[in-house]
Amino acid sequence: MSWEENVRRVVPYVPGEQPKEQNIIKLNTNENPYPPAPAVEEVLRTFGTEELRKYPDPTVGSLIGALSDTYQVPADQIFVGVGSDDVLAMSFLTFFHGKKPILFPDITYSFYDVWAQEFEIPYETKALKEDFSIDPADYMGANGGIVIPNPNAPTGLEARRDTIEMIVASNPDSVVIIDEAYVDFGGESVLPLIERYDNLLVVMTFSKSRSLAGSRIGFAMGSKKLIGYLNDVKYSFNSYTMDRLTMAVGCAALSDHAYFLDCCKRIVATREWTKQELSALGFSFPDSHTNFIFAKHKTWNAKQLFTDLKAAGIYVRYFDKPRINEYLRISIGTDEEMKALIDFLKNYQQA
Ligand SMILES: *Cc1c(COP(=O)(O)O)cnc(C)c1O
Repeated sequence: MSWEENVRRVVPYVPGEQPKEQNIIKLNTNENPYPPAPAVEEVLRTFGTEELRKYPDPTVGSLIGALSDTYQVPADQIFVGVGSDDVLAMSFLTFFHGKKPILFPDITYSFYDVWAQEFEIPYETKALKEDFSIDPADYMGANGGIVIPNPNAPTGLEARRDTIEMIVASNPDSVVIIDEAYVDFGGESVLPLIERYDNLLVVMTFSKSRSLAGSRIGFAMGSKKLIGYLNDVKYSFNSYTMDRLTMAVGCAALSDHAYFLDCCKRIVATREWTKQELSALGFSFPDSHTNFIFAKHKTWNAKQLFTDLKAAGIYVRYFDKPRINEYLRISIGTDEEMKALIDFLKNYQQA
């Protein structure tokens, strides 16, 4: 007998690399290439250090108020967490407490199975179709809950709103979590459906479309009942999850809607240009509605290309997993960064 027998053992999620070198082109973690809204810089310049003496508002009232205005959703239907990873982890803990397996796609955000294992939630993955689309029929059987990113990661593919609605409507006895981390890049949110389905939780983040991955702000919207249960678990875990400075940063980011829309528009334009260039170079990919492209070359080996790009200072993401080990996930950077990538590929030869 050793104390190690009592340890909760988990195989942790592996985040994309955050290299220390300057001058690399970082297209590996779906960060936004543009800075946060100018109002955020103003907050950082003028924030009163004295305020840090006191605990933050555990209800995150100011930020929830700003989110309520932005999304036109009542404040008691919004939950805020320290990045959507925190929101999702709390949601797994809160809503996936049944005996039946929860369901999610076989190719998806690689944190889901980590949380399921960590919280000892039984789970079953459902194979995406050959073209990486979701078959709603897979989500019609008995289950303990459902989580689907839409658009999906790392494929970038979006399911139509009526497909998601069919899944939500067919599962009144399960909570259905739709992870909309990338929805702002031209996707269609299922948020309007929370009025009709009390079992639907929509999760979003400031990390991608609002350029605030470094601040850790995520949120969920759903029925008053869902949000109430989520808050009960949160307050039983750590009441002060979000600090005062981050709350102010989040409010500032929401205050400049025009900047937000403009950033998203620029990224979408760069993505569409990159799609054309990649196609011309012999790549194929699911039609991305996100700030990344999941691309496969007709002849080049993906792992080798990943290594060669890295040696040239261009970081992308490679997943050595079944069904997707011939793909690279390429985040959309600035026009200059994408041009540098395309120039490298134009001159690339694989031995
Ligand atoms: C990036 C990402 C998240 C996590 O975002 P944070 O808010 O930074 O924790 C969640 N889900 C998906 C699908 C993502 O790609």
